[in-house]
Parts: sequence; C-alpha cells; structure tokens
Amino acid sequence: MSAAVLVVIEHDRGALADASLEALAFGRSIAEQLGASVEALLIGAEAAGLADACVAHGAGAVHLCSNSDLSDYGPEAYGAVIAAAAGALSPAAIAACGTDRGNEVLAHAAAELDLPFVANCTDVRIGDDWEMTRVQWGGSLNEETRLTSSLPIVSVAHHAVEAEEVAPGASADVQPLDVTLPDWVTRSLVQDRVVLSEGLTLATAPVVVGGGRGVGSAEGFAVLEELAAKLGGVVGCSRAVTNNGWRPHSDQVGQTGTRIAPQLYIACGISGAIQHWVGAKAAKKILAVNTDPAANMVVKADYAVIGDLFDVLPAITNG
Ligand SMILES: Cc1cc2nc3c(=O)[nH]c(=O)nc-3n(C[C@H](O)[C@H](O)[C@H](O)COP(=O)(O)OP(=O)(O)OC[C@H]3O[C@@H](n4cnc5c(N)ncnc54)[C@H](O)[C@@H]3O)c2cc1C
Repeated sequence: MSAAVLVVIEHDRGALADASLEALAFGRSIAEQLGASVEALLIGAEAAGLADACVAHGAGAVHLCSNSDLSDYGPEAYGAVIAAAAGALSPAAIAACGTDRGNEVLAHAAAELDLPFVANCTDVRIGDDWEMTRVQWGGSLNEETRLTSSLPIVSVAHHAVEAEEVAPGASADVQPLDVTLPDWVTRSLVQDRVVLSEGLTLATAPVVVGGGRGVGSAEGFAVLEELAAKLGGVVGCSRAVTNNGWRPHSDQVGQTGTRIAPQLYIACGISGAIQHWVGAKAAKKILAVNTDPAANMVVKADYAVIGDLFDVLPAITNG
C-alpha cells in the first residue's frame, strides 16, 4: 500500500490549472495528518510536462495515464482513470480542487468506486473518522460533515487554501499508469473546440443587462438587447429564463451559470434568489429594475428603479 494521498491534477490540454496547485497544498495538509506522502495523477499525454510543477508543490511521485482516448477532457473517462488508479495504487485518499471539473471527475470516480465523495472542503480534521467543514450554496453556508470511508474522496473549495512551492527546482520521475478504459467512457469526450475570437462574453463584459422572469418572453429581451448595445455590454439572464427556453444556458448568471464581475450589472425583473445573487454579487455596482420594492435584488442593489422594466429600459436607452 502506497499510503499516499493521490491528488488529481487539473489541466486543459497541458495548460496547468492553478487550482491544481491548491489541490496539492490541500493534499499535503491531509498527508501530514495521516503520516503519508502526496502523489500526483496526471491524465492525458499532454499533461506530461506538468510533472515538475507537481513535484515542486510537494508531490513525491507522479503517475501519468496517457491512454489515446484521453487526448482531451472527458469526465467519464477521467473518472474511470481515477477509479483504476485507486485499484492500482491503493492510495490513502484521493483529492482534487473543487472546480467544476475537479468535482465532476471525482463524482464520476466515486460513483465508479461506489464510495462517498465530499466536495468543496475548507478544512479536514482526521481522527477515527474524517471531520470536515465544507461550503454549500455558493459559499453562503458552511456544513460540518463526518466521513467514514475505506477510501476518502474529497475536494477542496477553490481558493480555500494557498498554493505553496515547497521543493523549487525539483524534477520528477514520471511513472506510467496503464489503464484499459471500457468503451462506454468515450461517450463524452471533447472532440473539437470552437474558440470565440472576438466579441464580449458574459464573463468579461464591462456591463451586463440581466433579465428574469419579469421579462415575460424571449421577445421581451429586445429592450435589454438595445440597452446592452448602447452601453457596450451583453445580455444575461436568470435560471427562470433558461428554464422557460427564452435564452440559452450560456446566458445564465448564477450558481449554475456564469459568475460575472462587470463594472455594472443591471438586473431587470430578477427577484435576486441566492443562487442568482452568488453569480452577480462580484459586480462593482448593481442597478435593480423591478416592480417590487421588497425584492431581494432591490434590497441588495447599489441603486434601484421601482417600475415596469418595459417603461424603464427604453427610457434609459432613449434618454
Ligand atoms: C440548485 C439550484 C441552482 C440554481 N441556480 C441558479 C442560477 O445559476 N441562476 C439563477 O438565476 N437561478 C438559479 N436557481 C433558481 C433560483 O432559485 C430562482 O428560482 C431564480 O433565480 C428566479 O428567477 P427570477 O428572479 O428571474 O424569477 P422570479 O423569482 O419569479 O422573479 C421575477 C421578478 O420579476 C419582477 N417583475 C415581474 N414583472 C416585472 C416587470 N414588468 N418589470 C420589472 N420587474 C418585474 C418581480 O417583482 C420579481 O421580483 C437555482 C435554483 C436551484 C435550486
């Protein structure tokens, strides 16, 4: 038994995600409590160049699985590799950073292994059981959790720990990990990518004009589009809107959409449910347009206009 904490390294076609370095720091804090070492798991041939960074951040060994089906991200395939690595390496625990990808692949691995998975931990205390604090609801709720498992699988909340280089300049001895993947894991592999070469995105726009259920229809978004165009921004929306099929999911702001940080967010006909708010709260200024003066978005916004958005928005656009 290697008795190592196996840290899954996140990368995108060989570009290291900084979150992976946080995961290694988290893995070290677990390993210290267990009296164990830290080992890194790289998935995909393009990740081979990341081994030295893993060692510099505390990995005592690096395993590389470079099966030909792993040329790009595939949650089921990655999960199957982690499950296979658990069998081959007998780690004491498996860890990753709680990014979308980190949590997705650990969830697949846990399902494959039929073991529990605790996501988004901020603190782990190991005694007879594992006790941990983890964040829920987009960071607005801390939960105390106790885990009993033959192989703890945990992710660390993104930004909860700091990456630390502990062995600068060290170089890695990469150990190949041969895994035979079942055919079904290739169901969801990325085969091609379309790169947006121009234009603003929800994540980068300086102004976002968001619409909620109060907009009433897909056609109703015309007044938001006009205002966004005038202000050099883009249109976003709430989940009520995507659920109704009025806008695509790529426009959704919130916990299960995009987290935005524009200079100005104009939230129109949006009540400000917590799941929406966590995606919008990083905006420098928020202007709410709502008929309800008691709406959460109105109460929390920097500015509010109480009125019908179909009166208010054209007045701003044409004013
Ligand atoms: C696990 C989970 C994840 C979720 N993730 C997200 C997420 O990522 N993003 C998200 O947005 N939601 C998310 N939700 C849904 C969230 O809880 C709310 O249901 C949703 O945000 C409500 O959308 P809304 O504000 O558009 O609609 P409502 O809550 O129905 O609010 C509509 C608002 O429009 C106002 N209004 C109505 N007519 C007008 C008018 N003519 N002019 C001006 N104002 C008007 C009303 O006063 C009201 O405040 C999630 C929920 C769950 C359970």
